[in-house]
Amino acid sequence: MNLGIKGKTAIVTGGSRGVGKAISYALAEAGVDIALTYQGNKDQAEDVVKEICHFGGKAIAIQVDLANTNEANQLVDRVVQQFGKVDILVNNAGVWPKSYVKEMSLTEWEKTLNVNLTSVFLTSRDFVNHCLEREKRGKIVNITSQAAFHGSTTGHAHYAASKSGLIGFAISLAREHAKDGINVNNLALGIVETDMVKEALEKNQAYYVDRIPLGRVAKPKEIAEIACFLVSEKANYITGATLDATGGMLMR
Ligand code: NDP
Repeated sequence: MNLGIKGKTAIVTGGSRGVGKAISYALAEAGVDIALTYQGNKDQAEDVVKEICHFGGKAIAIQVDLANTNEANQLVDRVVQQFGKVDILVNNAGVWPKSYVKEMSLTEWEKTLNVNLTSVFLTSRDFVNHCLEREKRGKIVNITSQAAFHGSTTGHAHYAASKSGLIGFAISLAREHAKDGINVNNLALGIVETDMVKEALEKNQAYYVDRIPLGRVAKPKEIAEIACFLVSEKANYITGATLDATGGMLMR
């Protein structure tokens, strides 16, 4: 299928590993120039860039700590300086720290909300203004979780709250800018084979897999293909939606 996104430019936050890395590859294969971000894993981020350049794509890696609102605020400008424009924003970076509410510090709560939700507000605001200035259409996809709807069962209430926040935020932003041709959607994941859940899966694989009706954990690549579709010209009529790619963990 021709996704119609060749020549577009995308920001993929958290593109050094896991789901973001797979999305960066998939978009680059569709002909999109990629600005992927990382926080600490410079070598891994640069390997992704090298791989994309190796198959003829164009990519850069940008270090940004999305827990820091000043840094998050500068991201879109930094990419515009390098590529001249941004057409697609994939808000993928996230953290999944473990703490039950009775022991949770305000610092832990704030860091999780900053990375998973506040940074999405800041990058989306700048991206929308960039699209409006250029009078061009744009696509935003946020990576959320089944936990946004089910809540957490294993000590991640701050994470679940941040991911629920993305739902209300995306619907509101989608309504504000539908007429400007800016589509805003979420992709809700269940359990994907990445570093984020590696330890939890090693310790308690049966507990997690038993909750997935399809009976298996997702591969990052299959999630990336869905994300690619959502930011493509084939999804122009989808906005304000949350697409569930959870192997059936989330059925609504
Ligand atoms: P990983 O832990 O594998 O990768 C996280 C990515 O986010 C890395 O690129 C990391 O950069 C980046 N990152 C982490 N903290 C920051 C920060 N403070 N500032 C900037 N970047 C940061 O995660 P996944 O690929 O598994 O998760 C991707 C998204 O999918 C997340 O939003 C997650 O919540 C969501 N999700 C994942 C599920 C799963 O089962 N894996 C299930 C449901 C949702 P660096 O490499 O430099 O550390």
